[in-house]
Amino acid sequence: MTTAYLSHQDCHRHEMGGGHPECPQRLDAIEDWLIAHGMDAALDRHDAPKVDLACLTRAHTARYVAEMQALLEGLERESAGGTPVPPRALDPDTFANGHTWAAALRAAGAAVKATDLVLDGQAENAFCAVRPPGHHATREQAMGFCFFNNVAVAARHALDVRGLDRVAVVDFDVHHGNGTEDILANDDRVLMVSIFQDPLYPYSGGEPLGPNMVNVPVPPYTRGPEVREMIEALWMPALERFKPQMVFISAGFDAHREDDLAQLGLVEADYEWITMRIMDVAKRHAKGRIVSCLEGGYHLSALGRSVGAHLRTLAGL
Ligand SMILES: [Zn+2]
Repeated sequence: MTTAYLSHQDCHRHEMGGGHPECPQRLDAIEDWLIAHGMDAALDRHDAPKVDLACLTRAHTARYVAEMQALLEGLERESAGGTPVPPRALDPDTFANGHTWAAALRAAGAAVKATDLVLDGQAENAFCAVRPPGHHATREQAMGFCFFNNVAVAARHALDVRGLDRVAVVDFDVHHGNGTEDILANDDRVLMVSIFQDPLYPYSGGEPLGPNMVNVPVPPYTRGPEVREMIEALWMPALERFKPQMVFISAGFDAHREDDLAQLGLVEADYEWITMRIMDVAKRHAKGRIVSCLEGGYHLSALGRSVGAHLRTLAGL
């Protein structure tokens, strides 16, 4: 059994303006690490397809999907003549260009295809090296560099289309996954566990929105040992009780101590440990089935190394 790796060049063409931390070079940093460590050949590579719009409406309102389509397809048309359109602001941090529509469809499409590959037994687990990320996108709002909630779309696909009864969402990005919580709170087929720095953007998560949310806010400057203790004490018993049939990961690597967007102190070994603990749960209850999607991680070198540690663990290398 293999680890599938899904990505697409369109995800590289989405740009939010010079100097923006959520930049195409993030994907290069991951690729470079894989090549430098001889791991690119160990993964089963797939091009991410564009998602069906019907898949998106399992997590977003039809009105929001139509609104994004009108706006982003408009930008795509404007730039088709060859003149690049300047990035268009959707919120103070989130910008779209002529390639954003294709990238956003591929990012969600990767998560859905990864879910099918794993459920069909064509891969044991899968990692989606995609952008834009997704976990801040709410049912009907783009924010925090996110347009469509890739993980929530895939989780609903696993439940509504593939007929699973219980899936877990694990979010270890340094920011609270407010969008995923907005979409999945009170869906009793889902357990979401997360850990995030508080206070920090988007300044939410202190009060869980539903009984199926295990939110673990941690103060700035918390380091790996304390994070591991909290995961062991707060995530693991809830995951064991819930017995998920599949596990989705919002894999953000911006809690790394070298990442300037926040002030947590994780290192590669912590990401390896977290990945192993998630795999333990998946092996016990979910036939090892994991779909992991890239969220944040903005220090390019630390991102490459951290994704490397995560992927090496997923692939059992
Ligand atoms: Zn983040």
